[in-house]
Amino acid sequence: MSEAPPLTSNRYRDAWCGQVLPDRVDSEVRVAGWVNRRRDHGGLIFIDLRDRTGVVQLVFHPETSGEAFELGHKLRAEDVLSVAGDVVRRSAETVNPELPTGEVELKVTAAELLADSETPPFQIEGYSGEVGEDARLRHRYLDLRRGQMREALMLRHRVTAAMREFLDGEGFVDVETPVLTRSTPEGARDFLVPSSQQQGSFYALPQSPQLFKQLLMVAGFERYYQVARCFRDEATRADRQAEFTQLDIEMSFVDGDDVIAANERLLAHVFDRVGGPKIELPMQRVCYDEAMGRFGTDRPDLRFGLELVDLGDALRGTEFKVFRSVLEGGGSIRGINAGRREMPRSELDGLISRAQELGAKGLVWAFREGEGWRSPTAKFLSEAELADLNQRLGAEEGDLLLLVADERKVTDAVLGQMRIDLAERFGLIDEDEDRLVWIVDWPLLDWNEGEKRWDAMHHPFTAPTGDFDPENPGAARAHAYDVVWNGQELGGGSIRIHSAEVQQQVFAALGIDAETAEARFGFLLEALRFGAPPHGGIAYGVDRIVQRLCGAETIRDVIAFPKTASGFDLLVGAPAPVEDLQLRDLGISVHKRKLAGH
Ligand code: ASP
Repeated sequence: MSEAPPLTSNRYRDAWCGQVLPDRVDSEVRVAGWVNRRRDHGGLIFIDLRDRTGVVQLVFHPETSGEAFELGHKLRAEDVLSVAGDVVRRSAETVNPELPTGEVELKVTAAELLADSETPPFQIEGYSGEVGEDARLRHRYLDLRRGQMREALMLRHRVTAAMREFLDGEGFVDVETPVLTRSTPEGARDFLVPSSQQQGSFYALPQSPQLFKQLLMVAGFERYYQVARCFRDEATRADRQAEFTQLDIEMSFVDGDDVIAANERLLAHVFDRVGGPKIELPMQRVCYDEAMGRFGTDRPDLRFGLELVDLGDALRGTEFKVFRSVLEGGGSIRGINAGRREMPRSELDGLISRAQELGAKGLVWAFREGEGWRSPTAKFLSEAELADLNQRLGAEEGDLLLLVADERKVTDAVLGQMRIDLAERFGLIDEDEDRLVWIVDWPLLDWNEGEKRWDAMHHPFTAPTGDFDPENPGAARAHAYDVVWNGQELGGGSIRIHSAEVQQQVFAALGIDAETAEARFGFLLEALRFGAPPHGGIAYGVDRIVQRLCGAETIRDVIAFPKTASGFDLLVGAPAPVEDLQLRDLGISVHKRKLAGH
């Protein structure tokens, strides 16, 4: 626990509970807080009193506590008290080495009940998961009294304080941007807010402050940051909330290396302040293509091997129809050497099901045996092909080999995830190791086969490297970078387009015609014509960083008032139906397709 904050004496207290330490023996103190625990012992009443700094033991004595003794009798868990007393040393047998205040106790001389509490719906002290998360969320103010939750929020505070400290020191200016705004395309659905003054028109809540921070660069602020709330109307997951917090940063007159360098110093500073991992600078960088090639993902966990290997060249002329048709169709065959393993048929079948669940049509498994394979697929492949596959996969006798043949996106997604599954299953991840890496040199665009169009890999404002060739948009690379920590993306950003002309070309490549671009982003295009400096930035998921730092299982454990997986705030009961009158003011009528809560 960090040091107790300063305290001005008043009628409630002159010390924090956590400050009642042996150096105060023989002095009087007054503390205030909540009854953590109460025990009756041979005529004496022991109370553990809790405030945000810790717990101190109070002793109510029938003779020395006077009127307070009566009160001590009536106290129950979570009642709120102000207590005065003498600090005394505990007898040797009653010292509690678990508590910083465990060598002393407070002999109560006066006590005042400030508020009483109903019986809480779950134990605060000694909580061990006896109630489900819904109960905790419904009574979040009680849940937040628990030490673990308090520590998580304190850590969160220290993380954002360290971010602000660093950025302030480097001349970044904290500017707030609107929450009621227009759609900002980050790829999710917008939350909409109807306007009563312009019936039928809606504000969108920002998916990020992206365009405002760019406008601040046009405005000449040069260095901006904001701890900004962002909103994306998408399903909640263990590491995602529809409403979340970003550390948002933008800089002018910089290239990608400048942004990366400033951010490495920022991360090192924050981790240093809060006891996070030690970062060696400069941090490792891996190109996007290499990450996809070796790990099948753009957020690789570098703490273990099991790298993907491309096997297409070994199988170009194969007679095996399944492989041949995939290669002829422009697909890929990729594999993993999972190392020397024993695995019964049932578990191998389990791996096949897993691959199918991840989107593959099937999975080929094999164990290297002599120069060939023990595998149901071995008979379809020539000796030369098997030898070549073994060599490319670095297979030794008994190694388990897993192959997927499909479109490249599928082989990447399936093997990329199976690589992680296998590492967990075989215990290959050293939990004490931390690997931070920049993923750099991204493609600008991503082909969306379903919609038959190009999508922005980051967002539509990311700058292409070099000249943008509208005839060949798929070839464009981007000045973009993501920072990944043990397989989780912490943040990402890019150098932005600062020319209206290039921005229009990129919009056109994304299928946004000139008229739509003008209607939705006219203000940006206009601003870019008034002298926009070269600029770029980044945004971090603050909730995620804190979650990782304290090892919380879900992001909800580091958010004071989070929403459930289905987007409900159980404490206040939101979202909720509204009065017809409110709807009328907004000019809205609702088709009641679903009843709230169902
Ligand atoms: N606006 C981007 C995001 O929310 C981050 C950035 O490009 O700075 O992911």
